[in-house]
Amino acid sequence: MSQIQENLQKIRSEIPPHVTLVAVSKTHPPEAVMEAYRAGQRVFGENKVQEMCAKFEQLPKDIEWHMIGHLQSNKVKYIVPFVHLIHGVDSFKLLTAINKEAAKQNRPVNCLLQVYIAQEETKFGFEKEEILELVRNRAFDTLPFVRVHGLMGMASNTMNETIVRNEFKALKQLFGELKSKGAFDDSFSVLSMGMSGDYQIAIEEGSTMVRVGSSIFGARSYN
Ligand SMILES: *Cc1c(COP(=O)(O)O)cnc(C)c1O
Repeated sequence: MSQIQENLQKIRSEIPPHVTLVAVSKTHPPEAVMEAYRAGQRVFGENKVQEMCAKFEQLPKDIEWHMIGHLQSNKVKYIVPFVHLIHGVDSFKLLTAINKEAAKQNRPVNCLLQVYIAQEETKFGFEKEEILELVRNRAFDTLPFVRVHGLMGMASNTMNETIVRNEFKALKQLFGELKSKGAFDDSFSVLSMGMSGDYQIAIEEGSTMVRVGSSIFGARSYN
């Protein structure tokens, strides 16, 4: 078994069956994706449109591609034909662009609303109040080609477990609130939270989808 396959097996053994593992393959070559694929992994996450499209072209068509990065409106058209889930939708403007392109291509697109939960200022996302306001105004009804399947969030990058846990708790609470309000239909069921450093805490706090990169594929090198 390769290192990637060993890592995958270990992480799978730590994740309950109701939690989906998104293997984050950004910056890693198609061969690395194939190693994970041969170990049964079918769900992969990328954060760059160009890289995701290139991998989609080259790799088996039963892979589910998840866009986890910040997405620019003008690049939406390239991923609408095949993307399985867009995690990082962080503005109504972007949702409108996705709806428009999805309508044009006649392919509804599954999205998660990214919520700003961390203390850092650099993280993208909706504020909780913004989402509640959009729900009150029935703004999502105007986007028939967007399927809001849930929420996504990133905790602060800190060793302080209490901070991380409380940020996940806040996201889970909003998730529950939107669910009990019936803000979206029954497909609103995904809570994407947790990465290599904090997925155990995220699962304890109610995550249904974790996005794990370096613990599977090793460190990334950007050059
Ligand atoms: C890169 C990335 C991940 C994976 O991070 P690791 O720490 O390598 O597990 C998860 N989510 C998002 C949004 C990312 O950009």
